[in-house]
Amino acid sequence: MASDLVPRGARDQSMSSASGERAILSRDGLQALIETLARRGYRVVGPTLRDQAIVFDDIQGVGDLPAGWTDVQDGGAYRIQRRADDALFGYAVGPHSWKKFLHPSRLRLWRAERNGDDVVVHRDPEPTTPFAFIGARSCDLRAIGIQDRVFLGGPHVDPHYQARRQSAFIVATNCGEAGGTCFCVSMGTGPRAGSGFDIALTELLDERGHVFLADVGTERGGEVLTEIPHDAAGHDHVAAADNLIARTAANMGRLMRTDDIHSLLLGNLEHPRWDDVAGRCLTCGNCTMVCPTCFCTSVEDTSDLDGGAERSRRWDSCFTEDFSYLHGGSVRQSARSRYRQWMTHKLATWIDQFGSSGCVGCGRCITWCPVGIDITEEVRAIREQPAASEATT
Ligand code: SF4
Ligand code: SF4
Repeated sequence: MASDLVPRGARDQSMSSASGERAILSRDGLQALIETLARRGYRVVGPTLRDQAIVFDDIQGVGDLPAGWTDVQDGGAYRIQRRADDALFGYAVGPHSWKKFLHPSRLRLWRAERNGDDVVVHRDPEPTTPFAFIGARSCDLRAIGIQDRVFLGGPHVDPHYQARRQSAFIVATNCGEAGGTCFCVSMGTGPRAGSGFDIALTELLDERGHVFLADVGTERGGEVLTEIPHDAAGHDHVAAADNLIARTAANMGRLMRTDDIHSLLLGNLEHPRWDDVAGRCLTCGNCTMVCPTCFCTSVEDTSDLDGGAERSRRWDSCFTEDFSYLHGGSVRQSARSRYRQWMTHKLATWIDQFGSSGCVGCGRCITWCPVGIDITEEVRAIREQPAASEATT
């Protein structure tokens, strides 16, 4: 994460003498880490098993983590499956991303009520309990970095995001296995957590035992580490972690060539593949809901029969017809134009707008698309048969 995008609360901790320190935690040490964060006043959130999926929720300890479970993912398909071991982070990513907490799907902006002839407006206070995220993947860290740029990077800072983000403590986990729809290597976003965390864990599980190599990323992370039992990391631990992450990188579920993607997509706006994908796309918006970088919202006003009213902000999707409604009609009336808008924004015009791709290669949009539309496959199809007559934009 570029230094100008680090939220104010984290900025002082981003360059620290403790950064680079390494230690070994046992399973009890991980429990102590969770308890220490809770004692320090954080709301600790992490992966847990619910409704046949690995989702994020409040956790009290290691017992809430999805021990011994993994996920099997493909286009339009997700299921959990028992592992042969008791790994706590032995899965890829689930339907939730951390934006669920930093950029809630529904947020009341204000409510108003009648008081005699007056109208009194109340604003809900922002939450004051900071989050501690346990188990953020490298792609998730990059997605948070992208949303930092969107919500905090310009002249108009989003106060709701800022309030939730600025003191968040992040415990990352390096990936020991790639999911079936992961392509972070193609996007340069994983599988090793490079920055944007306070502590990064690599889960090491073999015949010698079950431990976590902890990399300290910030001074705050180093302070927390001093409060929990740990041992010095040995060369064998570091080598084992490096091997594990390298093996993950070599086993991505998907690949996508990106070097020419901006000109490829914008030079093929009339490609017949957009008609092909429109024939499959349900315009349900699932892909935008699960995407950790999608940030669009709408504002809704509601009123009640007692004279009260409230205004809420909720996630919206460029796949809805209303999303591009402008005085008299929707600009993007067809599934073709909406899918094309989403994909060209995500992979091309996002670069013009924010200086990076809007995709971190997490694969969620592929897995959770009910008809299995695969962004990597759509790019490949366009590349394999580019429309010859279009000028590169
Ligand atoms: S691409 Fe898939 S998830 Fe996205 S709107 Fe179309 S059908 Fe829904
Ligand atoms: S576009 Fe798809 S793969 Fe890329 S970040 Fe969003 S959900 Fe993940």
